[in-house]
Amino acid sequence: MELREVYLDYSATTPVKDEVLQEMLPFFSERYGNASSLYTPGLDAKRAIDHAREQVAQLINATPTEIFFTGGGSESDNWVLYGVAEKLKNKGNHIITTVEEHHAMLHTAEFLEKQGFQITYVGIDSDGRIDLDEFRNAFTDKTILASVMLVNNEIGTVHPIKELASIAKEKGVYFHTDAVQGLGNVPIDVVDMGIDFLSMSAHKIYGPKGVGALYVKKGIQLPSFIHGGAQEMGRRAGTENVPGIVGFGKAAELAKNNFDEHVKHCSQLRDYLADRIINEIPHSFINGTMEDRHPGNLNVTFEYIEGESILLLMDSRRVCVSTGSACSSKSLKPSHVLDALGVSDELIHGTVRFTVGDFTTKEDIDYVVENLKEVVAWLREVSPLGPYKGWK
Ligand SMILES: *Cc1c(COP(=O)(O)O)cnc(C)c1O
Repeated sequence: MELREVYLDYSATTPVKDEVLQEMLPFFSERYGNASSLYTPGLDAKRAIDHAREQVAQLINATPTEIFFTGGGSESDNWVLYGVAEKLKNKGNHIITTVEEHHAMLHTAEFLEKQGFQITYVGIDSDGRIDLDEFRNAFTDKTILASVMLVNNEIGTVHPIKELASIAKEKGVYFHTDAVQGLGNVPIDVVDMGIDFLSMSAHKIYGPKGVGALYVKKGIQLPSFIHGGAQEMGRRAGTENVPGIVGFGKAAELAKNNFDEHVKHCSQLRDYLADRIINEIPHSFINGTMEDRHPGNLNVTFEYIEGESILLLMDSRRVCVSTGSACSSKSLKPSHVLDALGVSDELIHGTVRFTVGDFTTKEDIDYVVENLKEVVAWLREVSPLGPYKGWK
């Protein structure tokens, strides 16, 4: 079969769309002003940032003054946790989150635990869903923040953020959601959903890397995370990444305008991939529910073999997929999300995440499935495990 480059790891990052790149380019060269300068090129940069702030705000139904640009999703997550901990430490020291958050949340929460904060990690069921009663019962009179991700990055589960946020509101507690995977993939309306803080990242929606934003609901004074100049309304110092912010703005505008088409395109290809894998590759199964799922996400366990071996052999055929999450593929620790789902360590090791996006085609999926069939059959032939031992 002729080699074909196929990228099926859109949840790790996305290519920058050409329209986005074209908007960014002048801000590296002729429009290089510092947005804090008062002469014309400075005002030009400031206007470009203001425009991007409107574009990002519109994607989530916020107002521009509620959007603070950051250095990405991880920074936004860190800022909320440290910021709320600092602001409310005299009120309480208890934070609620879940076992399946991104490491940007989990490792920050663990760091706060070492500073004396108490963290409750709400579990997920075998479909990847959060039990609303378990969440409700986790609140104490010391709780200062509840945080649940909108969409899980490994198995794609979409959580009922509106319900979760309203429980937090009943308890008088701030609610944050890490919406990095949800942005552009599920509808987000911060007003309707009752969200106080929401983390975003540009590079998961066809924008550049190293830029993101935190939505902070009007009226909440979140302490600064980076101290220095007066940028970002005095809350996040440092000369703005103007090209990055402009790119994020354009990517947000495209995500809003192309939303229906994007969701339809991704979910059709994802479902086609799922059907072909399940029907054509024996002993494979999907992790997580197919309802309320990220439109581009498919997470599959192939029994008796190693996901890492699949990844490497698929890479030699020019196909990019990942095992669990990008961060955990560098360590041997089995995915904390699949572990929380109740998947055994052995099966976790046989798990591959496929995520499709706007540039994926049906021909790409056919190429991936044909190659996957060969790779899986070959690995099973040489595997010491299961019924395929010595199998032809
Ligand atoms: C990618 C991702 C992040 C981190 O965003 P960066 O911009 O890469 O720092 C945080 N949370 C989730 C759910 C993600 O998928």
